[in-house]
Amino acid sequence: MAKKVAKKAAKKKAVKKKAVAKKAVKKNVKKTVKKKAVKKTTPKKKTAKKAAAKKTAAPQKGKLVYFFGAGKADGTSQMKNLLGGKGANLAEMVNLKIPVPPGFTITTEVCTLFYKNKRKYPKELEGQVNSALARVEKIMGKKFGNPNDPLLFSVRSGARVSMPGMMETVLNVGLTTKTIPGLIKRTNNPRFVYDAYRRLMMMYSDVVMEKSAGIEPATDHDAIRHKLETEMDKLKAAKGYKQDTDMTADDLKALGDRFKVIIKDTLGSEFPDDPYEQLWGGITAVFASWMGRRAVSYRRIEKVPEDWGTAVNVQAMVFGNTGENSATGVAFTRNPATGENVFFGEWLTNAQGEDVVAGIRTPYPVNEAARSEDSMHLPSLEKAMPNLYKELHAIQNRLERHYTDMQDIEFTIQDGKLWMLQTRVGKRNGQAAIRMAVEMANEKLINQRTAIMRVKPDQIDELLHPSVDPVAEKAAGELGKGLPAGPGGATGRITFTADDAEAWAKRGEKVILVRNETSPEDVHGMHAAEAILTAKGGMTSHAALVARGWGKCCIVGCSDLDIDLRNKVVNINGKQLKEGDWITLNGSKGRFYEGSLPLLPADPEHNKWYKELMTWTDKNSRLQVRTNADSPSDATQARLFGAQGIGLCRTEHMFFESDRIKSVREMILSEDEAGRKRALAKLLPHQRGDFYGIFKAMAGLPVTIRLLDPPLHEFLPQTEKDLQDLASDMGVSYDKLRAKNESLHEFNPMLGHRGCRLGVTYPEIYAMQAQAIMEAACQLAKEGEKVYPEIMIPLVGHVNELVKMRNTVVEAAEAVQKSFGKKVAYTVGTMIELPRACVTADEIAGKADFFSFGTNDLTQTVYGLSRDDSGRFLPYYVEDGILKEDPFISIDQEGVGPLMELAVKKGRSVKPKLKLGICGEHGGEPKSVEFCHRIGLNYVSCSPFRVPIARFAAAQANIREQL
Ligand code: ADP
Ligand code: MG
Ligand code: MG
Repeated sequence: MAKKVAKKAAKKKAVKKKAVAKKAVKKNVKKTVKKKAVKKTTPKKKTAKKAAAKKTAAPQKGKLVYFFGAGKADGTSQMKNLLGGKGANLAEMVNLKIPVPPGFTITTEVCTLFYKNKRKYPKELEGQVNSALARVEKIMGKKFGNPNDPLLFSVRSGARVSMPGMMETVLNVGLTTKTIPGLIKRTNNPRFVYDAYRRLMMMYSDVVMEKSAGIEPATDHDAIRHKLETEMDKLKAAKGYKQDTDMTADDLKALGDRFKVIIKDTLGSEFPDDPYEQLWGGITAVFASWMGRRAVSYRRIEKVPEDWGTAVNVQAMVFGNTGENSATGVAFTRNPATGENVFFGEWLTNAQGEDVVAGIRTPYPVNEAARSEDSMHLPSLEKAMPNLYKELHAIQNRLERHYTDMQDIEFTIQDGKLWMLQTRVGKRNGQAAIRMAVEMANEKLINQRTAIMRVKPDQIDELLHPSVDPVAEKAAGELGKGLPAGPGGATGRITFTADDAEAWAKRGEKVILVRNETSPEDVHGMHAAEAILTAKGGMTSHAALVARGWGKCCIVGCSDLDIDLRNKVVNINGKQLKEGDWITLNGSKGRFYEGSLPLLPADPEHNKWYKELMTWTDKNSRLQVRTNADSPSDATQARLFGAQGIGLCRTEHMFFESDRIKSVREMILSEDEAGRKRALAKLLPHQRGDFYGIFKAMAGLPVTIRLLDPPLHEFLPQTEKDLQDLASDMGVSYDKLRAKNESLHEFNPMLGHRGCRLGVTYPEIYAMQAQAIMEAACQLAKEGEKVYPEIMIPLVGHVNELVKMRNTVVEAAEAVQKSFGKKVAYTVGTMIELPRACVTADEIAGKADFFSFGTNDLTQTVYGLSRDDSGRFLPYYVEDGILKEDPFISIDQEGVGPLMELAVKKGRSVKPKLKLGICGEHGGEPKSVEFCHRIGLNYVSCSPFRVPIARFAAAQANIREQL
């Protein structure tokens, strides 16, 4: 068995899939629900055997290997944790009586045990593998390693979630010098057999003997894969061949002999000539790749736990390359880039596995609907093999209905017989996710709540992404075009390697990663880049899949790119660009341009599916979503995004505007209260005007206004020159000004004279603000408009602070109401942003009409760290794993969360209906929104552009709670 236990895991190169079609023509997809094909075994006479078969469809203790084939599978789609996604779905397809080559899945538990036991397998494994293998042999009527009629296997990795960084598939396992003659005799096709053998050697030496064994080639050119490919190219060039398919049996036979020598020379060991050694080598390589560098780094980015492990699928080979009656392909049940409900895919005749995805040959459109301008001349499966297409179409339809979601499927046709090799929920970008979810709900395939759960909050975000300004785009000469793999617009500077992209981005540069194709080795650079542009690959290539997953702008398959990596230049249609040059991508159209074109903000308002989905979210949420807005234009924008009020209006932003800052400074520098009041009187009309505009924009929705919060020195100029200017401007002596400025200096301004502490010492400031708010409100009330001001006192730590400030505010407000002869309902509440406020929330609640959690300050004060200085150490904390996440991005639910919960409990113990909200940055972050929902807040408030995500996350939190 596994004699060569691989030492180190593989770096991984995902299968690169290639697609052509750009524009799918609308096509009538049959709406009739196909009856599920699982023909229940007649319930009456349940034989003992059938009952046993039924019982096995659940995880069993000690069972390490799960068989599937000929209509019977030990597993089901429910067993993804144990069998991995691929294995569970292969089992499910078998259960659905869909034609799948038989095989077996070695469970993820074996992976875990393998690592627990110093890379040794449990001793029962070999026996279980052998008996599953025997069952496959029986179904196929062939034997593994049999010299007369050999059975061949594929070895395929499959974790719970599809994961770049894992080992590639090895096909044709079991071909050896002993079995080759037998297969030639059986197939009467020596060319096919020698081609299969050279593919086995290429894949096996690459992923099993090199990558999984932890061998790191010095350069890309020293990698075994590259050497073998070069050897093959040499042969093709010598013979004047264009296509792989031009090579003859004799060519391939000779090539195989050369391969063996190169493998031995490069890797120091012989290519294994024993079928079982090949099989166990493949199995071990899959497990080893789980701890490979790339897999580990991908898991870190995507937060996939290490203890999930991967499964291994060993499956009988079927061949799409035995002749013109054979084919292979990859397809989606709906268009994964647009979401359109049309079967979409690519295929090739006389091809095996990787050919469709590797980009060596241009794949054909699977049907007429998937045709694009570029593939007009290529044959579709629909036309070329109409009956098989019909069968495939019916299967894809059934699979989508069975899984009630868009499927990504792989198929192979061997000598006129269709086999399904994979189905899984297909990746899609945000736009497609939203359209599919809404259309599927409208087709009654799923309900509205499921539709909401189908879309990730980040995908909503993607829709809100910028696009290239069409006017500028029209004026700009097109540099080149490719396939529109990831929508949206992006602009940045060219980098040619993932490492460069990462390094440049770290320096704060916007970069576009330009490559021939991408592989999992590039994910860090792809992550750092604004967008990705590749010369090769199709809509299902690695670059396209990864970009789509992240909602990144991406163009692939741009054959006009001629990249010279060594000199870091790229030639495009006669133009040469070098590293650092700016380009702009329109990922929705697949066009790109020289230079940096302006980008426009996204326009979700014209997306009818998005709009429909958002109407469903509000119906399904408990939590309301408000916005943080300081100006009428922000308020208007947020209302367009569906904000149900303003949760935080910061008055200090208004202080900075040029016409007011002078009065603000005058107020600060005044010697006494009378002087301050004089200055404040000048500010009053400005503030009143601001509030009037915001109230009006919110048209009767609640508006929470926070009274002045930052320390006063923030309003004074900081340079000597500015101070001098100010002095002469104000007619005060420079020395006096400087002395005042120095006297305002604080050691820890964040913990200093700010928030309600300002109001306590200078009540006239808060009185003026309350007066301005109420005058604006009364004015609007007089005009017949609705207003709901909520006046918020910041940084309260002790109830007495609130008592005093409340009195100040109420006094001012009542005076205004009296003079207007108008009553406007208003409330006075407080921010909860200090630990002491949380702990004494019951006392505070007695004096507050509402609480709003200021989680930025609360996080600062709970941690005792200053956010402004945290940049020096917090990133290391996150990198090192000391903190899982930056607590300023997502609420620290272990440290800060419990204090919030305490405040909720104590506050509501005094006032059961106390209105509770959050206005920190966390209010737009999905995990934090869910937390706020859970602890029973009434609303979250966030910046306007995050409102849709927050609304969405609020609905998801509510639905999840009820699941
Ligand atoms: P990935 O997870 O990267 O999609 P797969 O395990 O699906 O990798 O394998 C990639 C390709 O290998 C498949 O699309 C298919 O073309 C080919 N392949 C895998 N197993 C078989 C098999 N049993 N017979 C024929 N081809 C296979
Ligand atoms: Mg895979
Ligand atoms: Mg696959």
